Amino acid sequence: MVVFWVLPSGFRTYLFFSACLFLFFLSAGYFYPYRTAQGSLQKPVIVIDPGHGGVDGGTSDQQGILEKDINLAVALRARDYLQHYGLNVVLTRTSDTDLSPFVPGKTGRHRRDLEARIRKARESKSLFLVSIHCDWSADKKRRGAVVFYNPNSAAGKKLAAVIQEELNKTQAVPKKEAPGRYFIIMQSGVTGVLVEVGFLSHPEEAGLLRTPAYQDQLARAVAGGILRHCREQALD
Ligand SMILES: [Zn+2]
Repeated sequence: MVVFWVLPSGFRTYLFFSACLFLFFLSAGYFYPYRTAQGSLQKPVIVIDPGHGGVDGGTSDQQGILEKDINLAVALRARDYLQHYGLNVVLTRTSDTDLSPFVPGKTGRHRRDLEARIRKARESKSLFLVSIHCDWSADKKRRGAVVFYNPNSAAGKKLAAVIQEELNKTQAVPKKEAPGRYFIIMQSGVTGVLVEVGFLSHPEEAGLLRTPAYQDQLARAVAGGILRHCREQALD
């Protein structure tokens, strides 16, 4: 303290304002990579949801490769990237399993499965949920990755736009994020987006989706979008 007062007054003022500025940015969370929705400084939790699994294969390509396996491969890679950059990642499944086993004679398995995924996101207090899927269309020409968001969620739309932007860097034809009324992203209290990483009905794209290299490219884009969104949010 004594040292502070023997300094020239101009330098003292400079030090004082520097300290104030530092404290201001510190309180604003500027020096922390991310700020969670609750405003606390712990690492944010991101839920990655590989769609389908177990008894539910999802859609498939001409060769019978199932959507559930591609979803899981992309999700696991995205998790690795996000963890590498210091985020907490919770996967709704890490293997070929469903979250609500088929019970003979009991209906609503699919709904119970989706509810179990949402419960995971709520219990982990996740900042948001990113569900990974593959699309299919009777129109064999349709291709490309599209990110869907809950039309009632501004936060979801923002996240979808950033992930879409990153995905477009890997796409032959850039796409635009779109509103989608999927059950898993329509839940209150959970900001969710659903990424359709490509069309299994498009022969060429289905070929790409089967390769680890392309799965890795998609995972990197999804993770890159999530990371960018976290940083931009922290600076808002
Ligand atoms: Zn699906």
